[in-house]
Amino acid sequence: MSPPKPLVAIVGRPNVGKSTLANRIVGRRAAVVQEKPGVTRDRREFPAEWNGRSFTVIDTGGWQQGKDADLIEDIRIQAETAVAGADLILFVVDAQGGITSDDAAVARLLRPETDSVVVVANKADNDTLSRESGAFTRLGLGEPLPVSAIHGHGVADLLDVLIQRLPDPHDGDIVEDPVPEVAVIGRPNVGKSTLLNRLVGDERVLVSPVPGTTRDPIDVMIELDGAEYRLIDTAGMRRKPKMSEDVEFFSVLRAREVLQRAHAALLMVDAADGVTHQDQRIARLAADSGAALVILANKWDAADLERREQTTYELGARLGFAGWAPVLRISALTGARLHRLGPALETVLENRSRRIPTAVLNRLITELAAEHPPPMRKGRRPRILFAAQSRSVPPTIALFVKGGTLDSTYLRFLERRLRQIYDFTGTPVRMVVRRGAGRARGR
Ligand code: GDP
Ligand code: GDP
Repeated sequence: MSPPKPLVAIVGRPNVGKSTLANRIVGRRAAVVQEKPGVTRDRREFPAEWNGRSFTVIDTGGWQQGKDADLIEDIRIQAETAVAGADLILFVVDAQGGITSDDAAVARLLRPETDSVVVVANKADNDTLSRESGAFTRLGLGEPLPVSAIHGHGVADLLDVLIQRLPDPHDGDIVEDPVPEVAVIGRPNVGKSTLLNRLVGDERVLVSPVPGTTRDPIDVMIELDGAEYRLIDTAGMRRKPKMSEDVEFFSVLRAREVLQRAHAALLMVDAADGVTHQDQRIARLAADSGAALVILANKWDAADLERREQTTYELGARLGFAGWAPVLRISALTGARLHRLGPALETVLENRSRRIPTAVLNRLITELAAEHPPPMRKGRRPRILFAAQSRSVPPTIALFVKGGTLDSTYLRFLERRLRQIYDFTGTPVRMVVRRGAGRARGR
């Protein structure tokens, strides 16, 4: 799979020439330029290329609303894109005017992102205007680049700078430790040590104590179907405190801790015992951690037919919040169906780094919202302006919303539909709402 193209967002107050510049960069009249400020335009992102480097341009000018536009909210949403998705932000100002209070407001919002901002002084149609554009240095976001989007002056220089400032295309390929870290979690006596012994067998490749910790967690490397995994904190997996409450409590604490660095979790439950409250607590931690998840219904060999049916029912009813996790009915003791573990881990880890291209995601979300609009809140209907997968691991979808927010029921609806279209088996999918006021609400 080719890496996603870098995103370049064009932001700035209305009428400074964002769409004109977008057209120049894209090289065709893709965005519709309107003489009147504040006309709603639909198309928002375009593929572009310069010197063999491909990138995607987002013209946030298209988000401009009608006359009742809340300008500051629009601008805030633009700036939010920067935080969520864009690799580079072109902040456009009007070289024929000075710094306006709106320019200053945008600059303030962009300041935390200074490293990825390029100030573009547009409408610098002649040398005098170009020279005078230095005044925009006062925005505190670096030296402005004078361009004339309408005549094309300075656009090539801008593109050269843009290409230089884009993240290195190979950055994402370098993974420090390519071996996925896997946490085996579950309450006491569900069979974690038995599974570990099975998986490790005699081929205990490497034992590495993690330094600087008091209780010496030990990582063990294993190989399943030709793929390597690092089972983390196997010492903690085995540890059994004496008092029974301690044991229960310890299993939750340990789960919380190992999940912090796990790429995937194997949650073991005792099929002969059914799904308990404690299993639910640990499963909740796993589901919220961002790790990929496989549920192992262990001791299947020890469960009779009735018990198996009951456990199957309980898995659905009590662990419904992690309904996206595959369930393997195994026996760590006999080894039954353990051969499914390797393929399952491979699938969930792959799904955890799945990326939906921004253009596709937007089309999809727009269709879903048209077919099933977000419910009214306080007399207003929220509108989803733009969606972007702001992180790929675990998949995190940022929704830029205007006129209110989206409730968790609606977010679950969107997530459910996304899962029907894309294989996200075994991975959490996070839906994050980004609103005007700069607040982010995730779940
Ligand atoms: P947006 O609202 O920021 O997207 O601005 P537009 O791209 O719609 O442009 C607003 C107005 O500025 C239009 O009338 C453009 O023709 C004009 N404009 C854009 N770029 C330039 C430029 O480089 N020089 C001059 N003189 N006018 C420009
Ligand atoms: P841990 O506390 O989660 O590490 O659990 P252990 O691996 O120590 O297992 C607890 C008990 O369950 C031991 O007596 C194991 O032999 C037993 N056990 C583990 N896995 C299975 C299994 O798949 N089937 C059956 N019947 N017993 C199992």
